[in-house]
Amino acid sequence: MVTARGFTWQAASWGTVLTCDAFEGVAACAFTTRTLDVRPHNATPSDTWTQLAHHMGVAADRCVRLRQVHGVGILQLDKGRPLPSEPMPADVSITNRSDIALVVQAADCVPIVLADRRGRAVAVVHAGWRGTVANAAGRAVERLRESFAVDPVDIVAAIGPSIGRCCYEIGIEVQRAFESQDFPSDVVRQWLARDERGRLTLDLWQANADQLTIAGLHARNVHVARLCTASHLELFPSYRAEGERAGRFVGCVRLSPGAAARPTD
Ligand SMILES: [Zn+2]
Repeated sequence: MVTARGFTWQAASWGTVLTCDAFEGVAACAFTTRTLDVRPHNATPSDTWTQLAHHMGVAADRCVRLRQVHGVGILQLDKGRPLPSEPMPADVSITNRSDIALVVQAADCVPIVLADRRGRAVAVVHAGWRGTVANAAGRAVERLRESFAVDPVDIVAAIGPSIGRCCYEIGIEVQRAFESQDFPSDVVRQWLARDERGRLTLDLWQANADQLTIAGLHARNVHVARLCTASHLELFPSYRAEGERAGRFVGCVRLSPGAAARPTD
């Protein structure tokens, strides 16, 4: 199995999942692979979600999915409030509950999992280039702070498998979209670069890692799996490589019960 620094492959009932070591003791974190047949919309058999729920330690109907729209809408799920009966349009979800697992689906876009080491809350983010232009990761951090009093220096982040610069040629319109935002221009220049063949490429991993540190996370708490979906088709679906027939994998997080009671270093 391919290795990812700071991450470990774990056995699940259907195969393997990748987990980020830094989440231990705070939250369950999982990035699935092709072996769990997840597809967008409602085509996925419900037992798939049941298997995932079981792995995450929540009841069968407690994997909260989103209807992802490449935006920056945030679904906030507070303790004691009813859960939505169907996937809501949003690309970020956050919660202070430990009885639900938050899920985003991806096939090249970046799944990002966030957890407060003091156990107050967790979040997931779905960030393709549009979500990254709109600073979805940074907005998730901001909302964790506003809604659940999470200090960004206490947040650990896992940037999951997604398309790497090696396989992500983009057009000039994407470059212009990034340049039209408020990001420091010297930073944006590192996200967008021509490769040795002269192709304009985008580094979504670096862009999202930078957005998290700009939002206040310590760089040492931002863990990037550095696994390119298009380069690892044996493990992950890739929309760029497979087109419409590409399946999806998920990034998933669940706050550990009692995490808030644990001391942090
Ligand atoms: Zn690649």
